Amino acid sequence: MLTAEVLINLPSPRFNQAFSYSVPEHLSAQIEFGQRVLVEFNRRLLEAYVIDINEHISGEVKPLLEILDDEPVFDARLYQLALWMADYYLSSVPQVLNTIIPGSMDKKGPVEVMARFTAEDLPEVIHREPQVEELLQELIAQGGLKLPDALKLAGYEELMALAQQGLIGMVQKYTAYRPGKDGYVYELAELKEGLEEQMQKRAPRQAQAVKYLRENGPTDQVTLEGIIPAASLKTLLKKDYIKLVRKKPEITPGTLNLTPEQNHALQEISIAGQQGSFQEILLYGVTGSGKTEIYLQAAEEMIARGRKVLVLVPEIALTSHLVDIFAARIARLAVIHSAILSSERYQQFKAIKKGEIDLVLGTRSAVFAPLSGMGLIIIDEEQENSYKNEETPRYHAREVARQRGIMEGALLVLGTATPAIETFYQAVSGQMGMLVLENRPGQAQLPEIIIDDRRGEPRKDSRFSLSPLLRGKLTEKIASGEQSIILINRRGYSPVTICRQCGTIFSCPSCSVALNYHQDRRKELCHYCGFEKEISRCCGKCGSKYVQQFGYGTQKVEEEIKNLFPRAQVARLDMDVSQKRGQRQDILDRMKNKSIDILIGTQMVAKGFDFPHVSLVGIIDIDNMLSIPDYRAAERCFQLIVQAAGRAGRALLPGEVVIQTFNGDHEVIKYAARQDYFNFYKHEISSRRILEYPPFKEIMRIVISSSREDQADRETGILKELIEEIIDATETDLDILGPAPAPYYKIKDRYRYQLLLKADDFWLLNSIGRQILARRNEFNARLELDINPVSII
Ligand SMILES: [Zn+2]
Ligand SMILES: [Zn+2]
Repeated sequence: MLTAEVLINLPSPRFNQAFSYSVPEHLSAQIEFGQRVLVEFNRRLLEAYVIDINEHISGEVKPLLEILDDEPVFDARLYQLALWMADYYLSSVPQVLNTIIPGSMDKKGPVEVMARFTAEDLPEVIHREPQVEELLQELIAQGGLKLPDALKLAGYEELMALAQQGLIGMVQKYTAYRPGKDGYVYELAELKEGLEEQMQKRAPRQAQAVKYLRENGPTDQVTLEGIIPAASLKTLLKKDYIKLVRKKPEITPGTLNLTPEQNHALQEISIAGQQGSFQEILLYGVTGSGKTEIYLQAAEEMIARGRKVLVLVPEIALTSHLVDIFAARIARLAVIHSAILSSERYQQFKAIKKGEIDLVLGTRSAVFAPLSGMGLIIIDEEQENSYKNEETPRYHAREVARQRGIMEGALLVLGTATPAIETFYQAVSGQMGMLVLENRPGQAQLPEIIIDDRRGEPRKDSRFSLSPLLRGKLTEKIASGEQSIILINRRGYSPVTICRQCGTIFSCPSCSVALNYHQDRRKELCHYCGFEKEISRCCGKCGSKYVQQFGYGTQKVEEEIKNLFPRAQVARLDMDVSQKRGQRQDILDRMKNKSIDILIGTQMVAKGFDFPHVSLVGIIDIDNMLSIPDYRAAERCFQLIVQAAGRAGRALLPGEVVIQTFNGDHEVIKYAARQDYFNFYKHEISSRRILEYPPFKEIMRIVISSSREDQADRETGILKELIEEIIDATETDLDILGPAPAPYYKIKDRYRYQLLLKADDFWLLNSIGRQILARRNEFNARLELDINPVSII
């Protein structure tokens, strides 16, 4: 008899403790580490993760009820990673395991009760359990019952007793997905010699399919299913004689010639990759310096040496060209991101686990891909916020990748044109290696950047969102048939509506933020909670019709440009557009084939896209970003300008960038205009040192929220006292900033306060966080703890 140690899948940290269940005889052959099982716990049917299997030890334990997965959903290495994450990010192990396994695998059928005895045994079984006779007879008659129906015939306790005697089983299977038909091909697996001949005698239909695939190579799903009966193909799939895989583009093995600089970087990466122990390298290269080609060649080399590669990107939609490039060069590739079909995700998960995939390319959650024998992890645009998960567990993919690298002895390469300040600090202080690419290959030049200070501009010009200089440049570009991008980091038409009579700002009833007017829908929207209402013609407070909109967003800039250049082809790309299916792709295609003259967009247009015919980028309203009350505001602003500038002049056209501002003397804007990362870094790191922010201090942010304003305020005070008690007891050094109202004071009808804790030691913050969470129930407010937050607003 076996015993399984399981973790109950409930989020509370007290479920970090494992519980023992015995494994019924009929399940003992199937049970494996990393499977999910169904157990009874405190009178509830719950899912649990198997983390150990032992020979039965003395003492009475309940049996587990059912195995839910055919195959394990995590292995020992990912389990080790989960333990580390739970510890590091103040989370529970089951919560982390839920994050690690693909979400699509959570799709469960209803719980069904089934008989574990045959019709012949029925009289004997009923003899033993006369009080549930009706249920037992129904089970045999129906072949199984949904749990609610079974409960109509017997009580819960009785059902559990029957299950524990092994007379009935509870089944709740995870549905194995079948992939959709479009874009899939059948492929022949490697078959043992002689198998085909055997098949011809016993299963001629199957043999026919194998012969067809051997002669014709991979065949479209629809085609083959038109020739061979589905049942035969299904059997072949089940036996692993054939595979159903996503269609691949043609593989072009040709590699591009590298510049001496690129060559040097590739060699260094290659040497580091051969060490077989964890190492970390920052690949710092100006925009357009050819980092992708280095990633590819390093990956190809690692694969040739029989090890696996993981490539993380900030967002797939913004890097679709990167996916295409990788797909064209790497044969056994899997792409993982949130928009792929769950069916495909499940298939990929299985293929990766079986070792059939050499390179996984994906967003944040791809860091959990079950690759084994990983030799290289690449994180592109490592400074991006999208690598941080904003829900529990609040992990950062860069930190998790580092941990995986340590566990697997892999090389971690962080690629970027604008490193995070912390990353660059680590590189210059020798905690990681650094490789620099200062030049763009070929004839491409870095663009010329003009700071366009609008102070003192004549009144007739200041009513436009575009300065006279930028309007002039746009006119030139249209005349010469070149493309332009205008970046404004705010969607909607105008961000603020004010009553000129009484001064009231039109704001969201649930949040302390102004409503954004969206002209296309003629509605006022809250960008935080999604609240929307018809546009107001008059003030809700005083009734005056004298209301006015201030400021501008992408829609208003689009309107202005269309009025100024009525014959130009103008398009807009922001979240409102890109959520509409197909629209984004349509705009990207039209940009590529030059049928758009001017593209207006939010920061999404600044990131990653490669438009070879863009020679002008205008950045308007950068001042707004600089004034965000976050210690990373300068860093974000610098990154955005450099990334946006990187869109200009990527091929043969010389690029120009115009930054409109009312802060022309601002240091950050001046460094960004010179694309001078080194001096920006020097400036920024000294202010971080003085103000005691990362990398010099570790930070934990705690947001305390309640639907009652007084309660949020009071509980924050109590929490601060608790923290002070903890510090007094441990006699350690810690700064507490706050309590202060959070920059967004009210969101979704909850009032928010915050505390910011700063310490030298990460594990001090971690232990304080743990002690707070242990006493969470004493607070009449919601507490959200975030260690190393990427944003403090
Ligand atoms: Zn008013
Ligand atoms: Zn709102």
